[in-house]
Amino acid sequence: MCELEDKLCKFLDVPNFQYVTNGTIALQLALAALDINEGEVITTPFSYVATTTSILWQRCKPVFVDIEPDNFTIDPNQIEKAITPKTKAIMPVHVFGYACDVEKIQKIADQYNLKVIYDGAHAFASKYKGKSLLDYGDISTLSFHATKLFHTVEGGACICKDFEVSHKLEIVKKFGHFYDDYKCIGINGKQSEFHAAMGLANYPYINKIITERKRVSDLYDAELSDFVQRPKKQEDLQYNYAYYPVVFRSEKELLQVFEALKKHDIYARRYFWPSLNTLPYLKEKSDCPISEDISSRIACLPLYPDLSDEEVLKICKIIRSIVLEK
Ligand SMILES: *Cc1c(COP(=O)(O)O)cnc(C)c1O
Repeated sequence: MCELEDKLCKFLDVPNFQYVTNGTIALQLALAALDINEGEVITTPFSYVATTTSILWQRCKPVFVDIEPDNFTIDPNQIEKAITPKTKAIMPVHVFGYACDVEKIQKIADQYNLKVIYDGAHAFASKYKGKSLLDYGDISTLSFHATKLFHTVEGGACICKDFEVSHKLEIVKKFGHFYDDYKCIGINGKQSEFHAAMGLANYPYINKIITERKRVSDLYDAELSDFVQRPKKQEDLQYNYAYYPVVFRSEKELLQVFEALKKHDIYARRYFWPSLNTLPYLKEKSDCPISEDISSRIACLPLYPDLSDEEVLKICKIIRSIVLEK
């Protein structure tokens, strides 16, 4: 396990790396290690449900701030309005591996003395201004689920600058005690040697995986970018090609494309949908019109290293047949 931690820590060029059970536990451990177990956490509605439930699981209240229309990350200009005396932290998401406005977010956090936890489940190997996107904020989390760019079947990680925080994360993930010293309420968030072995088996292929995903993404770009909306990549971002999201003109068009793809046994994914501010079990309703709109129209197209050029062209032809029909 230490071998995988060391290798990934070096590969990502980050100071501290804690391998944990999965990306959801990573978020919960991050909140727990920073002593955030009450109050409000400002977050984005455009993410996977685990971002919101990790906050609720820690007995905190998620406060949703809408997203930027061009790259679907949290809109930093709306964060300040959402801050109250109960606000403890900000939990943005580097959606699809695109970078949040890390500088603006850090400035707000410093001004109001808030912690920043990035859900970096998609941000593996994305670099911003020459360094890992995971090297921003107090803690960044990763997911190594089988569907993610780099995987260990199940798995996740917490990455942080501060060694003390890393030590706290290690204690919390190992039942809250350090040898005979019972320090705090912990959980079993450590990961198994077996999963680490899967990671070590995948490790040599990381660069090849990214190169092949870039090939597929470039081909999609060439075939589709005139017909569908795409997130805008920041100039300073070295992208990891984790996903290929496309935004259709309407939910109806998206569903028509899905139906047409299904006839050829091709499955795209509604990712992310629904917008998390609309989850039925939230106590308070809030409006996030941009996230709700994008969620209703966005899909991630098939993207994996073995996807051949012919298959990509076939997918694009099917999409064009629907989108250009009107
Ligand atoms: C996958 C994912 C998670 C959860 O990770 P698991 O390893 O599946 O628990 C959390 N946040 C985002 C944005 C994700 O995509």
